[in-house]
Amino acid sequence: MENTHEAIIAKDVFQQVQEQIASRKRSRKDGQTQIFAGLIKCADCGWSLAYGENRQNKTPYGYYHCSKNGQGTKQCSMHYIRYDLLYGYVLSRLQHWYEQVQQDEERLLKQLLNTSDKERIATKKKHTAELRKAVKRKSEVDGLFAKMYEDWSAGRITEYNFNMLSERYQSEQRELDDKIRKLTEEMDAAVQTTQDAEKWIALIKQCSHPSELTAELLNTVIEKIVVHEAVKGTDGTRKQKVDIYYRFIGKID
Ligand SMILES: [Zn+2]
Repeated sequence: MENTHEAIIAKDVFQQVQEQIASRKRSRKDGQTQIFAGLIKCADCGWSLAYGENRQNKTPYGYYHCSKNGQGTKQCSMHYIRYDLLYGYVLSRLQHWYEQVQQDEERLLKQLLNTSDKERIATKKKHTAELRKAVKRKSEVDGLFAKMYEDWSAGRITEYNFNMLSERYQSEQRELDDKIRKLTEEMDAAVQTTQDAEKWIALIKQCSHPSELTAELLNTVIEKIVVHEAVKGTDGTRKQKVDIYYRFIGKID
């Protein structure tokens, strides 16, 4: 096993996974560790979803919600998802991919390359537009800031207003810098090759038919899980989109 292609990848990823799990580990009061720690993100604000427990229910159950919403700031909506639902969905997807690999590896490889191409083009387009917008706004804010400084020097605005505006501009500048940096990073990381798809297939092959989720399994094959806000239908149904981004290959359906 030592010198096979798959073993080499496994070693590489294994190291990363161990580090990731260690850095993402948050021990809870009851000593339980969260297998999804660090993996679940809000589709709208990008913050991590926080874990909570409903103890009012006869049988207490776990759930996730956007941590930006949970801070009392109401800056983002709830993005509520039950732990058991999320668990079941993610497990079923991993089982699906495992079966695909077992059935016809070649076909899966082709499928992955095809989807990741389409996905990549769409994402690149979106990121480029967002980046352009952020850069433009950044230069506007820089201009406004300079103008305000002039006004203040010339005594056209009060110290109080200067401080207030200066805080506002600076916080927007920080947010924009952050956004520009993140977008640039994501665009750099989006360069994918056949090799990436092969690497991912090798990873999936190594998980024996998954019957339960562990932090190790999740961190090995999954990069992040993005949870969208649920949409309530007029008939009372609740629909929620969950995107799984896999290591090396990104989002596939
Ligand atoms: Zn959010």
